[in-house]
Amino acid sequence: MATVASTTNPDRLSSLNPATGEVVGTVPVHTPAEVDAVVARARIAAHAWSQLSFEARAEELTAFRKALAAHADELADLLHRENGKPELEAYTEVMMALGHLKEAVGRAETAMAPKKVSSGMLANYRATISYHPLGVIGVIGPWNYPLNTPMGSIAYALAAGNAVVFKPSELTPLIAVKLAEIAAKTFALPDLLQVVTGAGSTGAALAKSGVDKIAFTGSAATGKRVMMAAAERLTPVLLELGGKDPMIVAEDADLDKAAEACVYGALTNAGQACVSVERVYVADAVHDRFVEEVVKHVRELKIGGDDGHLGAMTSSAQVAIVKDHLDDAIAKGAKVHTGGPDAISGNYIQPTVLTGVDHKMKVMNDETFGPVIPIQRVGSIDEAVKLANDSKYGLGSTVFGGKAARSIAARIRAGMTSVNSVLGFAGIPSLPFGGIGDSGFGRIHGDEGIREFTRTKSTAEQMLSIPMNMMSFRQPKDMPKKLRGMIKQLYGDGVVAKATDGWRRFRAGK
Ligand code: NAD
Repeated sequence: MATVASTTNPDRLSSLNPATGEVVGTVPVHTPAEVDAVVARARIAAHAWSQLSFEARAEELTAFRKALAAHADELADLLHRENGKPELEAYTEVMMALGHLKEAVGRAETAMAPKKVSSGMLANYRATISYHPLGVIGVIGPWNYPLNTPMGSIAYALAAGNAVVFKPSELTPLIAVKLAEIAAKTFALPDLLQVVTGAGSTGAALAKSGVDKIAFTGSAATGKRVMMAAAERLTPVLLELGGKDPMIVAEDADLDKAAEACVYGALTNAGQACVSVERVYVADAVHDRFVEEVVKHVRELKIGGDDGHLGAMTSSAQVAIVKDHLDDAIAKGAKVHTGGPDAISGNYIQPTVLTGVDHKMKVMNDETFGPVIPIQRVGSIDEAVKLANDSKYGLGSTVFGGKAARSIAARIRAGMTSVNSVLGFAGIPSLPFGGIGDSGFGRIHGDEGIREFTRTKSTAEQMLSIPMNMMSFRQPKDMPKKLRGMIKQLYGDGVVAKATDGWRRFRAGK
């Protein structure tokens, strides 16, 4: 039975507990040849899976969801030990991942239902659009939400009738191995969801393997490399990349709610979320009160321990990036209200609130991906919107305000916006999820997330013959003249005589 693909490579990869440094487990490193073999097996499973009815697929996927739910404790424990997130966040992640599985199954048939569309001028035709599985989807995942993020692609790809080969992050491979083990025990087709493990080179091999689509979640830099590798075989890609999500707080916002939301949005998962609140713009009149509220909320948080609000950062490399952003901001004049670079100990970072920040600082431009809340004072909503849009990224965003909140939200250049709430768009599985610019393209979740893993087919069926058949060379001699008339009547001003005169003058070179 295939779970994690077998390998002849003696090298193994260790997954470490970021809180303690101890080895949680080891996994194989798959070579390009082994990745190709896994994809070949997945192709056979994909064919059989695509032949099943939606109902039959739903039955198997529901059994898979129930099996995962039965292993919730084990999954949450692995998330806690391998990624560093506390219990609360680990169970939240399991719950979100299973929510996607349920949602995808529930909407696949409707999202892929054939649609009859207008046949326009060809009124004697029946025009339909239908959606079909692509085949094998390669999913490459990150370490920050090692279960929920890939599930945002895996669930929708499987529900749409595809097989999946999943390459998890080298920092969090064990949770993926568990997922594949449960899948192999549940599905009648054991190769339907397979996992290959290793670092970037295993991911690159998957991108080049000839899968029918790559769904990549990770940094913009790696996303570009994946796209280049996939280009070799013109493999389409879906890219869910990083963000630098802004939050705007207008003068008439409910400040207490805005502060609570800001603290959660910026610090959940220790700030290691692609849709973390990464920069905050607050109206001058309420700036000081808002900062006071935020600092108060932050001081209530528990850092570390199984029951903490914030756990250890998953990688020490990320800790170094956060420290660099803090040092840079402080050197350029930012004020530290809580935390700061001196409050970093090993992989633990105390949540840091900064004010007096501006767009010359890394902390307002580059993805920090850590527990940092930089707050900038703005003189007007126009200034806030201009600053919010001053980014190469465009993933999520947040607006808190009164009557104008919705219209402010409409002006933000991003894939998603939460109004008077934070991360709402991520908690509603029927809303498509994705970004623009350096945050990538394509959409997961919702109907769009199902159709992202399908090919669209157009069918034009002639229902009856009519005397004027445009799809033939057998036309009457005066057909060009008739067409000239029709063009003007259908698409021009309708005055045929003028058009004919114009044509004569054109032919005569006048
Ligand atoms: P990363 O880009 O370093 O790695 C992501 C994955 O790509 C890993 O599995 C890695 O092994 C693999 N990889 C590395 N080099 C590769 C190559 N040349 N070819 C193919 N695969 C390769 O990202 P990360 O550090 O694991 O994750 C953090 C990033 O992910 C952040 O930027 C975060 O914002 C982003 N993210 C985005 C979303 C989203 O939905 N938009 C969700 C979660 C995380």
